[in-house]
Amino acid sequence: MFDDINKKIKDWDKFYILTDFDRTLTKGNSESSWGVLSKSNLIDKDYIETRGKLYEYYRPYEVDLTMDYNTKNRLMVEWWSNHIKLLVKYKFREEYIEKVIRDTKVLSFRKGVVEFFNNMHNNNVPIVIVSAGIGNFIDEFLKQNGIMYDNVYIISNFIKFVDGIAVGIEGNIIHSLNKNEECIPDSVKNIIKDIENVVVIGDGVDDVKMVDDEKRSDALKIGFLTDDTKDKRDEFLKVFDIVLDTNGNFDDIMKEIDIFKFN
Ligand SMILES: [Mg+2]
Repeated sequence: MFDDINKKIKDWDKFYILTDFDRTLTKGNSESSWGVLSKSNLIDKDYIETRGKLYEYYRPYEVDLTMDYNTKNRLMVEWWSNHIKLLVKYKFREEYIEKVIRDTKVLSFRKGVVEFFNNMHNNNVPIVIVSAGIGNFIDEFLKQNGIMYDNVYIISNFIKFVDGIAVGIEGNIIHSLNKNEECIPDSVKNIIKDIENVVVIGDGVDDVKMVDDEKRSDALKIGFLTDDTKDKRDEFLKVFDIVLDTNGNFDDIMKEIDIFKFN
């Protein structure tokens, strides 16, 4: 598998990384950046209960492959909006972010992620994280692991605070269906616009939509297959150049793919 891949990208000079966060940089069984707060005792128990009900109601729609795009899009916006309203209702405080990440320990990186970030930083490779999760938690988790470098950009839902209390989010909601090239702000587009090649990494087939249409077929696409069913694997093999299983890690990626060796 890797021989063919290395042939495909042998002429690559410069590239950047476009990656999902939840269960791509974190392990396949890690809590998500939305779920992390529910594992903390800082927030009201009613928040946890109501959040669970929202999940039970909306999650089946999210994974329903037969539902039309517009209906599903409307439901996803509704889900994210309702969850954000809960953060406001239960007065989520800015000071919780650091404590939640430090104390719950329910986010954990796949093996080799820290080394991968160090490596990309040392070699000036931009890493753009596009996530439908909560950016504040992602940012804090990277900081606590010492890898929130200046070549790392997080495009996600950032909770907005006034006097330290949540009032909503900054900008538009990024949810599982609209997580595509249009989410990327011009400031980040300017940084990557002259870099011809891109590595896209995700744990869902829709994650490849983070890359512009015109660049998608030439991109190197790496997918982590977390719930390995035959149907899902077939779909992954169609979309990704490299399919790693739920325990796939970044040590192997760096060991096997020539462009990451930087001699
Ligand atoms: Mg993910």
